[in-house]
Amino acid sequence: MKQDSRRNRRAIAGAAVAILELRAIRRRWREADISEIILQSNLTCPLCGHSKIETMPVDACQWFYECEQCHALLRPRPGDCCVFCSYGNVPCPPVQAHGQGGCGQD
Ligand SMILES: [Zn+2]
Repeated sequence: MKQDSRRNRRAIAGAAVAILELRAIRRRWREADISEIILQSNLTCPLCGHSKIETMPVDACQWFYECEQCHALLRPRPGDCCVFCSYGNVPCPPVQAHGQGGCGQD
């Protein structure tokens, strides 16, 4: 059965493209998940208290964030995967979808 489906897939023109597309979709997460994931986080600078709502990248973790007000370069606290997990009011999208450690899996 498995071999048959493999052969069938090979017979379809552009199968490789389809697989690549599938991977891209998986990378962007299942659609059901996306709708539940909060992409806006209110980042608060630990140095000056300035806060700003930022949009988080879905497919990557952000390691650095420059505070708009005091220009401090924020980095994640030890144990956190990104600046949003450390200083935002919402965990980053990978953590929302996969839990702690969901970040940087790819
Ligand atoms: Zn600041």
